[in-house]
Amino acid sequence: MFIELSEFLRCPEPHEESFCVVAPDEMAGRMIVRGIVGCPVCRREYPITQGVVHFGKTAATAETAATAGAGAGAGGAADADPDVIWSLLGLASPGGIVVLGGSAARLAGALAERMGGVHLVGVNATAGVEMSPVLTLLRHPSRIPLRQNMARGVVLGGEAAREPWISEGARVLLPGLRLVAAAETVSAPGLDQLAVGRGMWVGQKTGNVKRET
Ligand SMILES: [Zn+2]
Repeated sequence: MFIELSEFLRCPEPHEESFCVVAPDEMAGRMIVRGIVGCPVCRREYPITQGVVHFGKTAATAETAATAGAGAGAGGAADADPDVIWSLLGLASPGGIVVLGGSAARLAGALAERMGGVHLVGVNATAGVEMSPVLTLLRHPSRIPLRQNMARGVVLGGEAAREPWISEGARVLLPGLRLVAAAETVSAPGLDQLAVGRGMWVGQKTGNVKRET
């Protein structure tokens, strides 16, 4: 986990939003390899092991299905062109956080090359995706354990282009910025559809647009 992501973490329990406390035990550069994330509200503690923050147990079956689907060419962001995803996100300036759901985490390296200084956060990344200096990995079965209005973009793999991930993606997204899903049928309250086609869907978060600096 990228240490500078600490301020954006959010306990997945249904209580008020609060900062989490991060206690690193082992670092590799600016990445926490081993440690604990603590919630000051409900006092829960979440382990960081091999760089992955485990906010909750995730089903291995979902991972297997997603991997099999991508392998069979059934769609999913792994098949998407990172140049296309990058242009659909429409980010004009470098930096910030972009969230990648499920198989979209496989695009982390390619997207990082195209986005100067951006940090990528993979939520429930498919098997074989590992932490890197540009990629933090978080796991939870039904929430994106991040604060609202913090991400400059959200990309969902085909198998993650459904609830609860669309609503969670919309929640963490900054107003005026975009969610890109590797699917053509997406129902997303809170997002305005900007484009659909070629297996991709793009929506923009409604609400007061905070202009990027
Ligand atoms: Zn909590």
